[in-house]
Amino acid sequence: MGLNGASGCLTLLAEVWEPIKGVKVIELDEGVVKPVRCFLLKGLDGHILVDTGYKETVGELLEAVQNHVIEAVVLTHLHTDHSGGTSTVKSKLTTKLIYHERELYTLRQAMKVSEWLSKVFYDKEEYMTVKYALELFSTIPEPDELIANGMNLAGYRVLHMPGHTPGHVIVVSDEYAVTGDLILQDDTSNVAYVPIEGYHPLTEYLKSIVKIAKLGVGLILPSHGPIFKDCRQRVAEIFTHHFERLSQTSKALQKGLTSPIEVAEEIRWSKGSYSNLGPVDKWLAILETLSHLDFLVETGYAKRVNIMTYGLSEQAEWNNVMRRLQAIADGLWKI
Ligand SMILES: [Zn+2]
Ligand SMILES: [Zn+2]
Repeated sequence: MGLNGASGCLTLLAEVWEPIKGVKVIELDEGVVKPVRCFLLKGLDGHILVDTGYKETVGELLEAVQNHVIEAVVLTHLHTDHSGGTSTVKSKLTTKLIYHERELYTLRQAMKVSEWLSKVFYDKEEYMTVKYALELFSTIPEPDELIANGMNLAGYRVLHMPGHTPGHVIVVSDEYAVTGDLILQDDTSNVAYVPIEGYHPLTEYLKSIVKIAKLGVGLILPSHGPIFKDCRQRVAEIFTHHFERLSQTSKALQKGLTSPIEVAEEIRWSKGSYSNLGPVDKWLAILETLSHLDFLVETGYAKRVNIMTYGLSEQAEWNNVMRRLQAIADGLWKI
């Protein structure tokens, strides 16, 4: 982030750089949570803006794009670090807003989970923090156009890569892919459970990262952390990470623990034990635990009594879990 004091008053400017011809990276840092990137891609009659960053950094974003014609704004997904500036961008720029219909569905459902949240969180303050985050989420405008998987947008392909969220998309050219939170070099993307009929987040996530590896694009441009070239090694590491989390989940069930919170307390989270996490991280941990439980239910290892109660199934067979992981990974190893 740079400072421009030429006019006598300090204006915060986003750092803008070009990793490859035709791509401008706009680095945005709201100071508390991790920095995020938006991308300005050269289109046919102007530029495509991918994501709008934090609500707090939208002024910097607008400064960075002010001399460009924006043909369309694509949201990779609706998490507030990627979509927080959207309503301001829509009011200041004449452009169409595009995102996936599953994100729109999630947006419409967001406030309906409020009652369930109050049951999940024992602590009133934690509940209010997460509820506030959901309320921010619900201010995102509805799209002018929905994304169809594989659609051509100004010469780019927009591909549906679910798992981090149900309607997560990436934008792909022949040389690179703008990948949002699909795959990160120095962090593992949260794989959140969302109650959508037939949606199995961990299965879809693992299939998505195999797909991105098979695309074989030269440069991966994620929204956080380092940009990188070959993602196959990283995909293999993420498979191992989820294998370990599934093992810890299964051990919790073997101990007779039944609720997602009890199971989450048994998982080794990257930021420490469950009890030491902040309210939003606790919420993400519960959603990811539900995704791992869902995977174990899908493979017949576990049974679900209801969304808050799980157990081992009568014929719990760990080999079935391994076979399922292997079947998804096969797509990668057979390249
Ligand atoms: Zn995200
Ligand atoms: Zn993000």
